[in-house]
Amino acid sequence: MTVTPLEHRIKARIRLDGPMSVFDFMGTCLGDPEHGYYMAREPFGAGGDFVTAPEVSQMFGEVIGAFLVETWERLGRPAPFQLVEFGPGRGTLMADLLRVARRAPAFVAAARLGLVETSPRLRARQAATLAGGPLSPTWYAAAEEIPAGPLIAVANEFFDALPIRQFERAGDAWRERMVGLDGEGRLVMGLGATALPGAGLPERLAAAEDGAIVEVSPVGVAIMAGLARRIAAEGGVLLAIDYGYSGPAFGDTFQAVRSHTPVEALERPGEADLTAHVDFTALGAAARGAGAAVHGPVEQGDFLLSLGLAERAGRLGADKDEATRADIVGQVERLVGPDEMGSLFKVMAVTRPGVALPGLAPTFPLSDTRSRP
Ligand code: SAH
Repeated sequence: MTVTPLEHRIKARIRLDGPMSVFDFMGTCLGDPEHGYYMAREPFGAGGDFVTAPEVSQMFGEVIGAFLVETWERLGRPAPFQLVEFGPGRGTLMADLLRVARRAPAFVAAARLGLVETSPRLRARQAATLAGGPLSPTWYAAAEEIPAGPLIAVANEFFDALPIRQFERAGDAWRERMVGLDGEGRLVMGLGATALPGAGLPERLAAAEDGAIVEVSPVGVAIMAGLARRIAAEGGVLLAIDYGYSGPAFGDTFQAVRSHTPVEALERPGEADLTAHVDFTALGAAARGAGAAVHGPVEQGDFLLSLGLAERAGRLGADKDEATRADIVGQVERLVGPDEMGSLFKVMAVTRPGVALPGLAPTFPLSDTRSRP
């Protein structure tokens, strides 16, 4: 098989500079301006590589829309406010949630729509999806560009697309996992030369077994801390939904998917979607550290059902034929079923302290250790 253009470039860089961290590899594969996965491809849907919740069913975005309008009410109906989505993909979630939000004209009148998206190709797709909707979006490359003021934000499968660093226990030390070349010039995973001595690290790291892997998401934590600081100061909410776990935990969650099938993470750089599970405990700690309150994480299934997904499905199916009704039931099952997205995906929100949210109880730091799903 031929090598991908990005593989060519990554190998040349490794020959020149030596092995690159998983962080650099993941960031390059997803975000390279020319050949990065999100830059060059449209990955979503049955014909793409994976299906996200908004692409499963319009009901997902409708429930999120109802949540955001209700939250806006509880926040005291701030006007104006920034209505922002992080990593909107095809724009489906925003289109669906705006359809529901339209029933609250004061919400739409107060909203300034912003989309945080790095891919020009996906920006164009989002523009097409949202054309003719009640609000015209402004695009931002990063959270810092969003104008000041109260923020009502949603991020579905955004944090899992941000690059992670991995460290592996090797003897008495920790070393960073790096992508290098083997004797035949193939990409291989290895360990970096610099050793972090085990002694002096936090207890749980010091006690880890040989071969144990820890993951950190420096970009995700930084984005969360920045948004939480802003929300603590100016008000609002951030709703984050992702495939994730409550850490601390050990394990390798760096994974690649192509055409709905798991593939080797180092195979065909730029052509597979790369993700890592989200450590909600780390994100929650970052938000609390910035002065915000954290709600959840709860399982996606519980969240959607407590906000009335089943009733919405009933209404949607009421005047439909048998086959369409069966489709709707299937979609509900995919969104909330425990063996489907229902329990693998978690929902967490960040507000100022003292705000009560629909479907999400405030939570306090976890002190227990739980394993990954
Ligand atoms: N939320 C969508 C798409 C999820 S895929 C859905 O649920 O269908 C991840 C999205 O995040 C893509 O739109 C991708 O281009 C965007 N993205 C990835 N890294 C980003 C970054 N660092 N800044 C902004 N957007 C990013």
